[in-house]
Amino acid sequence: MTKLDPEKLKHLAAHVNYYREMGIYDFYRQPVPDGVPVQLMESLEPPAQIVPPITSMPKDKSPSHPTTPKDKPAALKIIREDIGDCTRCRLHERRTNIVFGVGNVNPDIMFVGEGPGADEDEQGEPFVGRAGQLLNNMITAMGIKREDVYIANVVKCRPPGNRTPENDECDTCSPFLLRQIEVIQPKVIVALGATAAKTLLAVNDSMGNLRGRWYDFKGSRLAVTYHPSYLLRDPRQKKEAWKDLQMVMKYLGLTPPAKSPEA
Ligand code: URA
Repeated sequence: MTKLDPEKLKHLAAHVNYYREMGIYDFYRQPVPDGVPVQLMESLEPPAQIVPPITSMPKDKSPSHPTTPKDKPAALKIIREDIGDCTRCRLHERRTNIVFGVGNVNPDIMFVGEGPGADEDEQGEPFVGRAGQLLNNMITAMGIKREDVYIANVVKCRPPGNRTPENDECDTCSPFLLRQIEVIQPKVIVALGATAAKTLLAVNDSMGNLRGRWYDFKGSRLAVTYHPSYLLRDPRQKKEAWKDLQMVMKYLGLTPPAKSPEA
């Protein structure tokens, strides 16, 4: 097999990523006769660049989105229709409902979880079980309501037994999440847990290293915090999660209600 030089490989990766972000991930190769030069698309934008962590972003340099879809519900509907009655990965085999996403389409904050659990699979809505109850409490503690935010997951079908989704499942499903983010254009994305953080940031690092700082994500700011399910298992970490949420609140100018509910 011919080995591609690193420059061509980089272009090819950009090309594949470009299509992935549009939700297209099946490619069909056509044989190229010997001696025919392969055309590479020089003008393609590089894949989503994850800039180094931003610890302080000047206000006048705050991220802005180049294009806002005029009709966000219609744009989201198209993404949902593209997902269709999905059989792209093995997670479809045991699902009851595809869990697309829910909430305000013009939110300051979009929360991104890992994947539906049993309750979500049953009801077709993200974060409606025990972890969802805790997420609701966290949202209320920030001085906002669940209806003010948008909520979605990396994978849209429940992994059996609530196992962590495999890399190939995340790779197959995440282009739809990226398209949702592109439509929603939240000021802040909060990645809940390692799967969301690693998928969005395309890094493989510990939660300890990933949280507590800002990232730039395609015109939104992104913060990482612990997944509510993890906080249910280890409530001592709620203090740390609260610090992450306070960082988000400070940026958005949110103040907690006078009496902070349990979070
Ligand atoms: N955990 C998640 O990551 N997402 C949900 O929707 C529910 C639980």
